Amino acid sequence: MDKERELNKLKKSILKFNKNFPGKNLVFSDGNKDAKLMIIGEAPGRTEDKLQKPFVGRAGKLLDTLLESIRLDRSNVYITNVVNYRPDKNRKPTSEEINEFKKILFKHIEIITPKCILLLGATAVSAVLNHVGPLKEVRGKWINVKIINNSYDTLTTLHPAFLLRQPKKKKYVLRDLIQLKKISNNLIL
Ligand code: URA
Repeated sequence: MDKERELNKLKKSILKFNKNFPGKNLVFSDGNKDAKLMIIGEAPGRTEDKLQKPFVGRAGKLLDTLLESIRLDRSNVYITNVVNYRPDKNRKPTSEEINEFKKILFKHIEIITPKCILLLGATAVSAVLNHVGPLKEVRGKWINVKIINNSYDTLTTLHPAFLLRQPKKKKYVLRDLIQLKKISNNLIL
């Protein structure tokens, strides 16, 4: 598969959603399209909208630090969000928006075909795992999920924006990342 071509096609297909997010920019992805680890967040914030790249604001800086702790960086991960436009006033995406963007996200995952997927927070979990209960039910667990024609190992952890508000919870994320570290030799390109 020509990933670059498929990604460009997908990107174009998302532009039609712009009418629901007037004045906002498309924030598609960052990182390496051949990465073995795909990271999925919620939706872009103000800085992401401005720079048109996911996770480049305060939460993004924290994500970079967390990745560094397991010897990963943007050259060997691929990062996107469930919703590719910034919802007004930084509100959470609605379940209708999540459902609409889910089809795109699944296609995105199929194009990248990562070895595993790190889900950041409840929105990513509800889109990918279809799980709507408390996050602690899935946090820190490897869950295999079938998406289109492939199955993927997913690991869920807390969203870095939540950690900025509740820094004491960082210990859970560090614990979850140890699981990724155990397989990190298989994740580095
Ligand atoms: N939070 C997200 O979920 N995604 C971003 O890109 C930035 C902050």
